[in-house]
Amino acid sequence: MTALAARSTTTPAGSCPHLNTQCVEQGPHDEHWGPDNEVAAIRPDEAIQSLASARLYSYAGTDFAAPRLSVGISGFDGDLTLAEVDQLAAGLRDFANRLQIQAAHLAAAQRLHEVNR
Ligand SMILES: [Zn+2]
Repeated sequence: MTALAARSTTTPAGSCPHLNTQCVEQGPHDEHWGPDNEVAAIRPDEAIQSLASARLYSYAGTDFAAPRLSVGISGFDGDLTLAEVDQLAAGLRDFANRLQIQAAHLAAAQRLHEVNR
């Protein structure tokens, strides 16, 4: 097994088991968040946030809710250069690929949520 493969299959000690082990929060917490999946802003110097983001989320407080995918899509209105179009297309492709992975984790997390109710 390569070092990279070993790292990707090893769960760090003390890490959170929620969200199909995708939770990145450390220490005691009621809000579980997965890693961020983002489409970077086309012009970061003009933007206050990324174009799109998606993160797995669940709240484990008093009202334990089923896991969801928290999604934000910001409005963008502008004329793009060819380089910016290429950047946007690549960003959206990567975002969509990661979205499918997040959907698989969400499905697994929701099944575990139903089992543990
Ligand atoms: Zn957690």
